[in-house]
Amino acid sequence: MALFPIEQFEKIDTPFYYYDTQLLQHTIATIHQTAPKGSVVHYALKANSHPALLSIIAQAGLGADCVSGGEIRHAINAGITPDKIVYSGVGKTDKEIAMALQLGIDCFNVESSAELEVINDIAGQMQMVAPIAIRINPHIDAHTHHYITTGTSENKFGIDITQMHHVIEYAQTLRNITLRGLHFHIGSQITSVNPFIQLCNVINKLQKELLSKEITIDYINVGGGLGVNYENPDIDSIPDFQSYFDTFAQHIHLQPGQTLHFELGRSVVCQCGTLIARILYIKEGLNKRFAIIDAGMTDLMRPALYQASHKIENLSSNKPAQAYDVVGPICESSDSFGTGVWLNEARRGDFIAIRSAGAYGQSMASQYNSRELPGTFIG
Ligand SMILES: *Cc1c(COP(=O)(O)O)cnc(C)c1O
Repeated sequence: MALFPIEQFEKIDTPFYYYDTQLLQHTIATIHQTAPKGSVVHYALKANSHPALLSIIAQAGLGADCVSGGEIRHAINAGITPDKIVYSGVGKTDKEIAMALQLGIDCFNVESSAELEVINDIAGQMQMVAPIAIRINPHIDAHTHHYITTGTSENKFGIDITQMHHVIEYAQTLRNITLRGLHFHIGSQITSVNPFIQLCNVINKLQKELLSKEITIDYINVGGGLGVNYENPDIDSIPDFQSYFDTFAQHIHLQPGQTLHFELGRSVVCQCGTLIARILYIKEGLNKRFAIIDAGMTDLMRPALYQASHKIENLSSNKPAQAYDVVGPICESSDSFGTGVWLNEARRGDFIAIRSAGAYGQSMASQYNSRELPGTFIG
């Protein structure tokens, strides 16, 4: 079991997110040590945009992958300069596009022909040239939950690989656009290197085709998606960046002068975050025992949204373990963190740790049921 400063937790209202900033620092140091030479890593803010974490990430020199104008603002407020910001997302508004152009961000990751046209128009009105990368859907099954698969055929993300040449030709006719990169992001929580090898193979093939047409691309952005160990966060507190980066270094064939870009979210911040809650009630049912806690799907939506499971620990008890259904207070049946979870015998008031909650946890929190947003404890 990881060590938590429980004495200090006594003074704070639960639920709250506890962040181990030392682990975050070590994680980023590992990224720096293992990323291929000359490559660029952008942190995907949607995983977690808490200012305390962002400022550490900014100081460590990572760039930012943003999916809204709000995230671009957060990145800049944290000290990430516009030249290190890329902007993805299928539904960029005119206002957001204008703001990003005004700031001079590094690149728009464009997800449709229609968006290309709008960016070109807005850049034209502003007498600017917008740097863009085309997001391509490479038809790769990332073998992850269907809600977080993005690279298979016909979904809202990216331009279908079969339409790529057509869209590139179109981009070349637009005067206020400059094609800088190709962008891919095949899904999230990917725990095997195979989908990434497949991605490299697809990219190599595309590059050959582009080369034959004398189209030059400055960078290849392979997105994010590296998975983390939710079952055993203490064994794998830092994800296996070495294997991940080595896979790309080995399999991708870059053209001279080309830069490789990564956009990692989950793997950067997931293991440094824990949702801390207290047990409100132990409810003895007919065949089950419920631990009703004061955190719910409003604080951590992943179990309700993706059927995700997080390791849960009772930080306040050393007694023998019993099976509990750990549930929240929200008026939805999906507001459950796990059934038959083995916890040290629990009582009202015990601190419960829901581990691996640093990514897609606090950033997805809502106020449904008119609840307050979860607090934060920076450790
Ligand atoms: C969400 C997202 C990422 C980050 O994905 P992780 O699985 O958290 O690493 C990267 N790129 C794009 C375009 C995204 O939408």
